[in-house]
Order: sequence, then C-alpha cells, then structure tokens
Amino acid sequence: MENGLIDRYNRKIDYLRISVTDRCNLRCFYCMPPCGIRKLSSQEILKYEELIEIIKCARELGIGKFRITGGEPLVRKGIIGFIEKLAGLGIDFSLTTNGILLNRYGRDLFNAGLSRINISLDTLKENRFNRITGGGDIREVFSGIDAVRKLNFSPIKINVVVMRGINDDEIIDFIEWGKRELLNVRFIEFMPLSREDYFYPLKVIMDNIIEERKMVSVEVPGSGPARNFKSTDGDNIVGFILSRSEPFCNECNRLRLTSNGMLLPCLFSREGVDLKKVLREGGDIRGPFYEAVSGKPEKHNLNGIGQYQYMNQIGG
Ligand code: SAM
Ligand code: SF4
Repeated sequence: MENGLIDRYNRKIDYLRISVTDRCNLRCFYCMPPCGIRKLSSQEILKYEELIEIIKCARELGIGKFRITGGEPLVRKGIIGFIEKLAGLGIDFSLTTNGILLNRYGRDLFNAGLSRINISLDTLKENRFNRITGGGDIREVFSGIDAVRKLNFSPIKINVVVMRGINDDEIIDFIEWGKRELLNVRFIEFMPLSREDYFYPLKVIMDNIIEERKMVSVEVPGSGPARNFKSTDGDNIVGFILSRSEPFCNECNRLRLTSNGMLLPCLFSREGVDLKKVLREGGDIRGPFYEAVSGKPEKHNLNGIGQYQYMNQIGG
C-alpha cells in the first residue's frame, strides 16, 4: 500500500503488538485479574497460520514492526516454529517475555531467528519477586538472562514497571545492576488498567538521576517512546517511558491484536474490531485494519477502560 495506514490525526500506524496467548506461568498481581482468568479455548485463539496470514496482510498495509507478547508467549506450544516462520518472512520483530523459560528456550529462539528480546523484571529481590508474581522464582529469570546474554541477542532490554509502594525504592539498584551486568534497563510508568492505581511518576526522579549521574541523552533507533540516557563511564543504556507524565499519544503508531483475534486501536479501547471473525468467514482482513485505524482515539482515555482490562488479555 502506497501511503500505509494513516489515522484521522495524521499518525502513521506501522507497529503491531501481537498477543499469542492469554496464558501465563506467573500471576503478577497487577496484570492478572484477582479472580483469575477464564482461559480461552484453543478454538478461540488465533492459530499460528492465521497469525501469519494477518502479519502478511499487515505488512502489505505498511506495518513494518511487530512485537510478540502475551500472556507469556513462551508458554504457547509451537512458539519456536512460529518464530522461525516470522524470521522467514524477513520482518522486523521482537519478543517480550517474563524470562522464566528463557534458560530452556533461549538458544532455540535465537536459532529460529529471534534477535531482539525484552525481558520484564520489576524487582531484583527474591522475596519481592515471589510476592509480585504470585509465586515466581527470580533465579529462573536470572538464569534466563544469563542464557540469552551468551547468545548475542541484541539488544536485550530489561523492562521495569515502577509501582508506588511496591518497587519504587529499586530504581537506583536497577541502574547499578544494569551498569554491572551491561544490560539496558527501561523504567516504565504504570498504566491504570487494574482496579488499583500504583502510578509512580518518573519525570522528577529521571531528571534528578540524569543530573546527579551526569548522564547524556542518546538516540536509540527502534526504542519507541523511551527517553534514553548513558553514563559517561558505562556502555549500558537507561531508558524511561513516561506514558503518563508525558503521554506520547500524538506519536502513537501502534495497534494491538489480542490472542482471540480482536484488533484494538488503543490500550484503553472499549472494544476491538473482530479480525478473527472476518478471517474465519473468508472476508477481506484489510477491512478490520482500516476500521481499527479509523477508530484510533486522539489520546488515551484513562477513564474509558473497556472490556480488555488487564494486560495479560491485551498483550502488553
Ligand atoms: N508475560 C510477558 C512479560 O511479562 O513480559 C509479556 C506480557 S506482559 C502483559 C508485558 C508487559 O506489560 C510486562 O512488562 C508487564 O510488566 C507490563 N504491564 C502489565 N500491566 C501493566 C500496567 N498496568 N502498566 C504498565 N505495564 C504493565
Ligand atoms: Fe504474566 Fe507478564 Fe502479566 Fe506477569 S506481566 S502475569 S508475566 S503476562
């Protein structure tokens, strides 16, 4: 398509985040509903072949960047084969994982053609990790990180969602750890999707850290809305994503596809466009893309949370 997908506010939509499963091997308290989830049946979720068809269509429409997420993408059976197919398409794609299964699958993922990876880790403390994730073992994440570091993934980004009263005391620890371990750490503001809002504004602390540590701003291609900095005495990058302090809706370039095939114009969309229905009825799946793009709001409506309330359903 010549001009790609352009929305009503003249934003070019060229990035698709794809949730391949609603299931997860952790139970992060802020991501999963407290009552648990109604697991989608295998008929409800998009098959890998369907995802490939959707991705090919998206690419024709000008979407050039894809992220595979979940739930936890590495718990879905057949994920390695799917990654191999994606790599075969020659598209620019990356994967977000909680890292628990990386020790087991890191090499297979790399051999399948994955080169960029984001690992979510909200604390460096064993007991706190266990509490946040509803029973997870942080040692598995550390060994997963070690495994992928040996494999030349580039970049490896560690994503930390900073939450008031939960882990807001660990920002400096994470910066020191990233420096020691030569890992890029990104701090992300909490989005009000769950019932309780743990928002911890990062702007002031970011400014203080930059000044005290004499960090310099760096451009990192492909790092989206993150503001990135480097110390003069270290090679790793520290990023801040100020989704709430400084919303970047005016630059938003993304759509989200849920594992049951709904295309969401915005993280806070009340409802999505049923792409799966059109696909399974043999219709033209470009239609749902046009519809989702034309339904993209100018900015997110934090009060307008819709049917997809938790990240495990939306695909963070
Ligand atoms: N299971 C994988 C993982 O944890 O990386 C992928 C899916 S998870 C939903 C993707 C990301 O969304 C994680 O980094 C998680 O911390 C983040 N997330 C979940 N709920 C969030 C919220 N309310 N605000 C900001 N980020 C959130
Ligand atoms: Fe699972 Fe990721 Fe949600 Fe944690 S943040 S419950 S790891 S999907």
